[in-house]
Amino acid sequence: MKKKAGMKIKIWGARGSYPTPGSDFAYYGGNTSCVETRFGNRLLIFDAGSGIISLGKQIEEEQPKIKRILIFLSHTHHDHIIGLPFFKPLWMQNTRIDIFGPDLFDTNLSDIISTWFSSPLAAFFIEDVAAKITVHSINQWDNIILPPGAGDVVIVRKKLEYVTVGKEDAILSIHKNFSHPKGGSFSYSLKYMNKKFSYVTDTENYVGGDKKVCDFIQGSDLLFHDCQFTDEDYPSHQGFGHSSLGYVLAHTKKAAVKKLVLFHLNPEYGDEKIRAMETSAKAIIPEAEAAREGNFYSL
Ligand SMILES: [Zn+2]
Ligand SMILES: [Zn+2]
Repeated sequence: MKKKAGMKIKIWGARGSYPTPGSDFAYYGGNTSCVETRFGNRLLIFDAGSGIISLGKQIEEEQPKIKRILIFLSHTHHDHIIGLPFFKPLWMQNTRIDIFGPDLFDTNLSDIISTWFSSPLAAFFIEDVAAKITVHSINQWDNIILPPGAGDVVIVRKKLEYVTVGKEDAILSIHKNFSHPKGGSFSYSLKYMNKKFSYVTDTENYVGGDKKVCDFIQGSDLLFHDCQFTDEDYPSHQGFGHSSLGYVLAHTKKAAVKKLVLFHLNPEYGDEKIRAMETSAKAIIPEAEAAREGNFYSL
């Protein structure tokens, strides 16, 4: 049977701030942000939280099939890069890993990654890994064109209407959230074969909603959105750089999103509290659910 073309998206980690092992977190999972996306011959990973460690083990089992891996970082807070040094493909020869993300806080992404992979923070240096790693600083004006196959991507700074895009090309767009301390974060939106997946994490409410985010996620078939706080808990955490449930729901309705996944779950909320948030979300948007490790979406 011919394989259905389209995007396949899998959650490997959806916990915010720090990993949460233990029985209170057994259902939704305790690994920090990592989302695998595949289409055609492409493998994209959004964020390299602790969830990327298990994904790396799966990729190892698939070798030698996967030669190239693209990692897109929302930003470089610990919870989004904590798994990177333990990602098995780093230690595989003949593997290319491209890491994309923002320069933050006046620091080049390449320098941030090199520091993370250096003594005394790590037991090795970036030069020690077996894979060929290339770090790409990108900014909020860039669009990234991913032609079919697994070859090089093209970073363009022009408006998309001035760029020739092939029918089978995927396009990754970026929105910069300035509402996450201290340097902001990137949200990503991936369009492939008339489907749209948006990944929006580590961003905080604006009263009345953020029109720019709304425009960015407009019409998404699937949206992963930061939802770290209940509406009750939000006021005492204003300024932490994360969203509350009521905001996410209002926002999602306005943007005509088809399916919403509550992401970047609060590390202090056990399964019971997350389930209650999920129930509240479903009452407003039936196609809403909380992120759970291992959940798989097909677009
Ligand atoms: Zn985070
Ligand atoms: Zn953060």
